[in-house]
Amino acid sequence: MKLPKIVEDLTASFEKLPGIGQRSAQRLAFYLLRVPQRDLDSFATSLTNLKKQTKLCSICHNLTDQDQCSICGDVSRDSSQVCVVESFQDVLALEKAGNFHGVYHVLHGSISPLNNIGPDELYIDTLVTRIKKGIVKEVILATNTSLEGEATALYIKQALTGLPVQISRI
Ligand code: ZN
Repeated sequence: MKLPKIVEDLTASFEKLPGIGQRSAQRLAFYLLRVPQRDLDSFATSLTNLKKQTKLCSICHNLTDQDQCSICGDVSRDSSQVCVVESFQDVLALEKAGNFHGVYHVLHGSISPLNNIGPDELYIDTLVTRIKKGIVKEVILATNTSLEGEATALYIKQALTGLPVQISRI
């Protein structure tokens, strides 16, 4: 049986998502066919606007819809303490734990020669610039414990050598 092209196209789009195989992709497409039109419209609007209405925080590169993210804009946070993480998800996890009251710096990846990701592809230069402004007193390197994460932490440590900042690794 040949499915309508629109269903095939939607299935193909779902299949490109991480962790979604062909069967799941088809199940999602069939599920959406049963959803009320207004819910579909709302879903479609969210998809259309997802990238248009989000950007990176001008200070820490976290996800935001403003110039600054909600953490950088929160005056109760300790801006002298910066936790360096690889991704938005890391920020979310640390915020969920709720023990950290400083601010973040999101690198958007880790150094990975195998994937052609060097220091220049990450937000390391902006971290150095941030530290040079003198407000930050402590940098906590919270990159992953993978080889790439360790290499990234080491690289940052070296990049910050000589700057008046305390560096720790978690
Ligand atoms: Zn921010």
